[in-house]
Amino acid sequence: MAQAQTQKMRQPIESGCPDGLQYMHPLMVRNFGNWKYHDRPRPGVLHHVAYSGDEIWTVRVGTQRQLGPYEINLLCDIIDQYADGHVRFTIRSNMEIMVDKREKVGPLIQALNDAGYPVGGTGNSVTMISHTQGWLHCDIPGTDASGVVKALMDELYQEFIHEDMPNRVHITTSCCQINCGGQGDIAINIQHTKPPKINHDLVANVCERPSVVARCPVAAIRPAIVNGKPSLEVDEKKCICCGACFPPCPPMQINDPEHSKLAIWVGGKNSNARSKPMFHKLVAAGIPNNPPRWPEAAAIVKNILRVYKEDAKNWERVGEWVERIGWPRFFELTELPFTKFHIDNWRGSRYTLNASAHIRF
Ligand code: SF4
Ligand code: SF4
Repeated sequence: MAQAQTQKMRQPIESGCPDGLQYMHPLMVRNFGNWKYHDRPRPGVLHHVAYSGDEIWTVRVGTQRQLGPYEINLLCDIIDQYADGHVRFTIRSNMEIMVDKREKVGPLIQALNDAGYPVGGTGNSVTMISHTQGWLHCDIPGTDASGVVKALMDELYQEFIHEDMPNRVHITTSCCQINCGGQGDIAINIQHTKPPKINHDLVANVCERPSVVARCPVAAIRPAIVNGKPSLEVDEKKCICCGACFPPCPPMQINDPEHSKLAIWVGGKNSNARSKPMFHKLVAAGIPNNPPRWPEAAAIVKNILRVYKEDAKNWERVGEWVERIGWPRFFELTELPFTKFHIDNWRGSRYTLNASAHIRF
């Protein structure tokens, strides 16, 4: 009896993802794994039909990316009033709202549009830009990746609500060059262009030197005695200007209004549909990191999208289009200057970069 009580009182394990089925629309649970086909009646709406004859409509919504309590309450009220109270987020942070009747789709879209939320992001559109964690959660960002998303999606509103690109366009932003950014048809990354400047008077009091040495991905940091005080030194020939040493050691300042810039990369994709996954390539560097609207980066992205839309064949992803026409033609068409910085002649990359889709341990 005592043992049975102990088992009954056992607490749930508070880690890992909860079972998603409990949050799913009941119609989706009922037809789980038994879908016959799906189509898109209009941009931003997916329609799935099950073998049982059940149908469900999913409305995809773009948001301002960082949602505060006001926006969450507003959206939840709309979802409760006009939909069935079920919502999910895509990996690109679009919201998807499910309804079980065709008649519910129109009023839901109207309510979302009236509240200022666009419906789109499906098929051959420019869907929501994915971004890395930025200042919200990470300790090494050189820019506000989510801010770039909001500013750029304001510029790409028409491309989000219409499906008139040659193929889907995935844009990514990333606030450092070494960690969690992904491959994208167009990627916007921060690039520090000079090694950190060290304030040797502060290092001994502020930094735990072994942690800083361990943090450098290319082993460019060494302990040193400078002006009679324990400090650190950087081998600038090795330093890749990643910015990882700044968080554990703020006296190693690297963010700089003149030397921290944005770079734009083109032609990457994670998918292996039609062609293999591709790495994106640098096409523009030295772009001002200019919040809150980043107009220079936005102008280049819009120009690349315009040329892609005019020149690519139907169903070509950006990388496939560039491979067909060749990089010289890409630079001609986009009128982006080609410089020596576009050429990667680092011979070690063949052996050290993880250039396959396989996971290695
Ligand atoms: S991209 Fe870099 S700076 Fe940005 S969140 Fe990821 S690790 Fe942090
Ligand atoms: S910026 Fe990056 S590569 Fe350079 S010293 Fe710091 S951690 Fe190392």
